[in-house]
Amino acid sequence: GVYLYQNRLLPQEEVHISPEDRGYYFGDGIYEVFRVYNGRLYEADAHMRRLQKSAADVRIELPSEPEQLLHQLVELVAANRLTEGTVYLQITRGEASRSHPFPKAAAPVLMAFTNVLPRPLAAVQSGISIVSMDDIRWLRCDLKTLNLLPNVLAKQHALDRGAGDVVMHRGGTVTECSASNIMIVMGGRIVTHPANNLILHGITRAVVLRLANELEIAAEERPFTLSELMEADEVFITGTTAEITPVIAVDGATIGGGTSGPVTRKLQQAFERSIEAL
Ligand code: PLP
Repeated sequence: GVYLYQNRLLPQEEVHISPEDRGYYFGDGIYEVFRVYNGRLYEADAHMRRLQKSAADVRIELPSEPEQLLHQLVELVAANRLTEGTVYLQITRGEASRSHPFPKAAAPVLMAFTNVLPRPLAAVQSGISIVSMDDIRWLRCDLKTLNLLPNVLAKQHALDRGAGDVVMHRGGTVTECSASNIMIVMGGRIVTHPANNLILHGITRAVVLRLANELEIAAEERPFTLSELMEADEVFITGTTAEITPVIAVDGATIGGGTSGPVTRKLQQAFERSIEAL
């Protein structure tokens, strides 16, 4: 496929990432994953704002202006004739011999590519089971950095136990999943962890809260516990690739009736409409 490498669209074979890239040594970089529906980028501005925030907080300068970068991503999607899929974009602090201090001379290295990815219709319909696990990550989970080892270990922990994902918690307070946010429904109200330093501020999370507001479904951003999760009427996860996926069991115990609930389904329908309106 065609890649975006720095400022240029190139065939993959012509993209050469150095073994001295700090992304490789240190995970010293940031990334974004955009969803493409019908050849169009979904919530592109929100993703760009989050990228700018990640870049600023880890002190990497974006190699191009956000508007220009967005334009290049649109061209990347077109060059790959992508209709349903994702765009992966990463920016590292650049190439330098291995040493912790920021290199004086290095320039950020940007690359992006597209993936064909059908919508997760089966999981969205039938739901997934999840297992709980300690959240062992650092205290800046709001930054979308390349340091995903805890998330990788967490996802494999779930798969090894026949579950679809983990739900992570800090001392019994539920934070998020390995690559998605999590929401519970109790008495018709949605509850989800506040957008602070302990979770990624999911774009899908924000979309769902906006849709809930439009549908006049009450939503509360507050920490909730594992026991509240176990006793919830409905549970679902939100993410760029997961969309709105119901959770039907936690640690082997069935949630709700073991199927997606009415609030989840209403939100899923509204989400469908937001895709169609794109
Ligand atoms: N939480 C984590 C740890 C993630 O990696 C992701 C996305 O990949 C999310 C939440 C969901 O965020 P978004 O809805 O922006 O995809």
